[in-house]
Amino acid sequence: MKNDILPDLFTLAAIFEGMEDGVLSHDLDHIILNCNPAAETIFGYTASELLGKSIFTIIPEDLQQEQQAIFKRVMAGEKLAHLHSIRRNKENRHFPVSLTLSPIRDDDGLVIGASHIMRNITSERETAEKRGMLAAIVENSDDAIISKTLDGIITTWNGGAEKIFGYQENEVIGRHISILIPLDRLNEENLIIENIKNGNKVDHFQTIRLHKDGSAIDISLTVSPVKDQYGKIIGASKVARDITAARKAEIAIRHQAEKLQILNTIGKVISEKLDTESILQKVTDATTQITGAAFGAFFYNIITNDDEAFKLYTLSGSAREAFEGFGMLRNTAVFHSTFSGEGVLRADDITKDPRYGQNAPHVGMPKEYLPVVSYLAVPVISSSGDVIGGLFFGHPQAGVFQQEHEDLVVSLASQAAVALDNSRLFTEVKELSQKKDEFIALASHELKTPLTSMSGFLQLLDRRVIDANKPFVEKAINQVKKLNTLINDLFDISKIQSGKLQFYFEEFDLTMLIKETLEAIGEAHSSHNIYFDETLEMFLEGDKMRLEQVLINLITNAVKYSPESDKIEISVQKAGAEVIVSVRDYGMGINKENINHIFSQFYRAKGINRSITGLGLGLYITKEIIERHGGRIWVESEPWVGSTFSFALPVKTKGNMYTEYHENGEERL
Ligand code: ADP
Repeated sequence: MKNDILPDLFTLAAIFEGMEDGVLSHDLDHIILNCNPAAETIFGYTASELLGKSIFTIIPEDLQQEQQAIFKRVMAGEKLAHLHSIRRNKENRHFPVSLTLSPIRDDDGLVIGASHIMRNITSERETAEKRGMLAAIVENSDDAIISKTLDGIITTWNGGAEKIFGYQENEVIGRHISILIPLDRLNEENLIIENIKNGNKVDHFQTIRLHKDGSAIDISLTVSPVKDQYGKIIGASKVARDITAARKAEIAIRHQAEKLQILNTIGKVISEKLDTESILQKVTDATTQITGAAFGAFFYNIITNDDEAFKLYTLSGSAREAFEGFGMLRNTAVFHSTFSGEGVLRADDITKDPRYGQNAPHVGMPKEYLPVVSYLAVPVISSSGDVIGGLFFGHPQAGVFQQEHEDLVVSLASQAAVALDNSRLFTEVKELSQKKDEFIALASHELKTPLTSMSGFLQLLDRRVIDANKPFVEKAINQVKKLNTLINDLFDISKIQSGKLQFYFEEFDLTMLIKETLEAIGEAHSSHNIYFDETLEMFLEGDKMRLEQVLINLITNAVKYSPESDKIEISVQKAGAEVIVSVRDYGMGINKENINHIFSQFYRAKGINRSITGLGLGLYITKEIIERHGGRIWVESEPWVGSTFSFALPVKTKGNMYTEYHENGEERL
C-alpha cells in the first residue's frame, strides 16, 4: 500500500534533475552524497567535485559554526524551511540563499543525513533593495511625485506632494487629479494625457496648480508615461516642483535690475545736467518710480531777499494734478524734521505719528492734501552741510515703503546734492563770467575815447617838435599804439561776446595782403628775418582788415615767442578748395598741456617768461575771425623746436564765384 502512494524512483530522479533549486544531501559526517545539476550551476563545481566533499566547502568560514548548530537541529529531526543564509561558490564568491533543510531517515526512521534545497536570491535581494531605495527617494523628495491612471485617478502620492499641495495621501488616493487644477486650466490635463497616451513625456511645463487651501502655486511639471511589464501605457507619473520661491526670486532680481538701471541712468543724467530744474525733475521722477510711491515731490529752499525760506517743488506720480492744486508746502512739524536736516522719516502710517496734523488751524490732514498714509521723506544735504531741500513720497496704503526704498532714495539724494551743488556753482560762474564781459565792454569803451584824443595830440606834437625831444614823442606814440592794440583786442572780445563783431567782405589778393602787412610791421620786428617768397596772386573774399589783424597777431606772436632765434617763415599754398597760410617760428614752442587751451580767451601758456607781455586774447580773436570766414586754424608745435600756426580759408571756385587759380598762375573766372 505504502509503495503505491509513493512516486516511483524514476519520477523522483526526474524531479531531482529538473529542479531550478539546487539540491544537496549529506551524511551525518557532513559528507556530500548527492547533488543535482542546479546545485552544480549555483556553486560552479561539477558533481564529481562536490561528491565526497564536506558540506562546509560551500559555506563561508565565518558562518560555519552557526550553520553547524543549525545542522545539529536537523540531525535531531527538525525541518527548517526558508532560512536565509550565505553560501560561497567555487570562486569563493559569496551570495545570499534561501534554504530548506530536511532530515533524511532510514527505513527505521533514524536520521542518517540531511537534504539542502537552496535558491540563489541575489537578484531578488537586489530588486528588493532597489525598490526600497527608490521608495525612499520618492518619499523623501521635495518634489511632488504623483502617479495616476490614464483616467486621471491618483494612485500614489509622496511626502513632497503632501508638502506642496497640503493634502495627506489618504485624502487624495482614488480621487481625480483635477482637484489640483485651477478651473481655467482644466484643458491642460487633457493635453497632458493626450501626450502620455502617445508615449510622449511632458517636460518642465510651467503652470499653476492649487493648494488644498485654494491658493495658487507656481509649479514646473514633468509627466512621463508608466508602462506595465508588457510595455502597455497604463498611467502617468508626474513630478511637480514648487517654483513659487524661484519665481519670486526671479521677479525680485528683475526688480533689482530695473532699479539698478534707473539708478545708473539717473546718476548719469544728473551728473551731466547743469540746470537745477531738470536735475530736480529727473530725481523726483526716478525716485517716485523706484519707491512705487503714488506721488513724489522734491521741495527745495530758495532764500529770498527778505530771508524767508520759500519752498519750490517738482512733482511726479499719478496724483500730480491734485498735488499741484495744493500750492506751497506749509512748514508743519512733519516737514520740519526733514527741512531741518534731522534725518530720514519713514512711516508705515504717518497719520499715527504724534507730529502729524498738530499745526493749527488744521487738525489732521488738511483736505487739500492727498490721502497720504505711507510716508517717506529724505533730506537733501549739500557738501557744505546745508539742507538744500527734501524728497517726499506718499502712498494711500500703509506700509508701502521699505528699508530698501529708503536706502535707494538716500543714495540718490546724495547724488542729487552733488549735482545741485555743481549746478549752483555753474550758475555762479556764469553770473561772474557775465559780469566780467560787462566790465570788459565798459572798460574798453571808456578807455578808447581818451586814448584816441591822446593819440591825436601826440601826432600833432610829433609834427611840431623838431629838436632833441622828438625821439621821446615817437616813443610815446609807439606806446600809445601798443595800448591801442590792447584796448582794441578788449573791444573785439566784448563784441564777440555780444555777437556784434562786424565783417566787411570784399575780394582781394591774399599774397598782396601778406606783403603789405609785412611792410607795415617790418620796422617793429627788425629783430627777426621774415621770409615770404610767394609771388602768385591768391584771390579771396573776406574782411581784409580782420585778416590783416590775424596776420599781425600770428607774426607778432612768432616774434614774441622766439627771442632766441631770428627766423620766421610764411607760406601760402592752395590745397583743394582751400588756401592755407602758415607762420613758422623756431622759438620756445608750446607743450602738450597748453596746446589745447591757447585759443581760449585770457589763456597764456603756463611758465612763459613774464617779460613777454600779452593779455592772452590774440589767438581767441584770431580763431573767431577765421571761423567767421568759414575757415579753420590750428597749430603744430614742439617745445624749443618751434611752432607753426596755420589757417585755411575757402578760395573762390567757379561754382561759388570765388576766383580759381591754376598752378601756373593763369587766372580764370
Ligand atoms: P598773448 O600772446 O597776448 O599772450 P595769444 O592769444 O596771442 O595771447 O596767445 C596765447 C598764448 O599762446 C600765449 O600766451 C603763448 O603762451 C602761446 N603762444 C602763442 N603763439 C605762440 C608761439 N608762436 N610760440 C609759442 N607760444 C605761443
